[in-house]
Amino acid sequence: MDTAEEADICRVCRSEGTPEKPLYHPCVCTGSIKFIHQECLVQWLKHSRKEYCELCKHRFAFTPTCWCGTCCKGGIL
Ligand SMILES: [Zn+2]
Ligand SMILES: [Zn+2]
Repeated sequence: MDTAEEADICRVCRSEGTPEKPLYHPCVCTGSIKFIHQECLVQWLKHSRKEYCELCKHRFAFTPTCWCGTCCKGGIL
């Protein structure tokens, strides 16, 4: 009974991707930490002030511009 690995989940909030909140694969990590929501990645980037993955040291392909279009008028946070 090892089916838990089949569902792709976000490494931050541990929930699955949805049509509204798809999962991204912004670095070269593999396995259960491979995926992250864009929203969770933005929050993490704001918190950590890093531009690269702390685990694989890969610079995120994702650019942390505003995704909501309202909080920062599309500027870099
Ligand atoms: Zn998440
Ligand atoms: Zn990584």
